[in-house]
Amino acid sequence: MDCIFCKIIKGEIPSYTVYEDELVKVFLDINPSNNGHMLIVPKNHTLDLNTIDSSTLIHVMTIAKQMKKLVEDRLHADGVTLLQNNGIAQDVKHFHLHVIPKYSIEQTILPVEEVLKKLKES
Ligand SMILES: [Zn+2]
Repeated sequence: MDCIFCKIIKGEIPSYTVYEDELVKVFLDINPSNNGHMLIVPKNHTLDLNTIDSSTLIHVMTIAKQMKKLVEDRLHADGVTLLQNNGIAQDVKHFHLHVIPKYSIEQTILPVEEVLKKLKES
């Protein structure tokens, strides 16, 4: 299969991984609309909201909750937008939920390596 997200999940394409468990991988968008813009992607290939099973969807939202807290704590985000595209609005044809941090003061877009470092430092 020629799915870029499946390749990222298998490790065939490197990614800036923020979080990973048995069901999902979370990595930074390489073309972020804001610092900390990340994608939550189920590991089993599924197209969109029509095809994703409900238990995986619940898990995706549970992780979104954790990622919201993470960007608030580590990046001092003032808000978060969750975005999920389907059909003609969908770029990569593998379900993904965008987590896009929002800031009250406009931020310079930092290199993703730098953002990942901030997210991972303890
Ligand atoms: Zn896929």
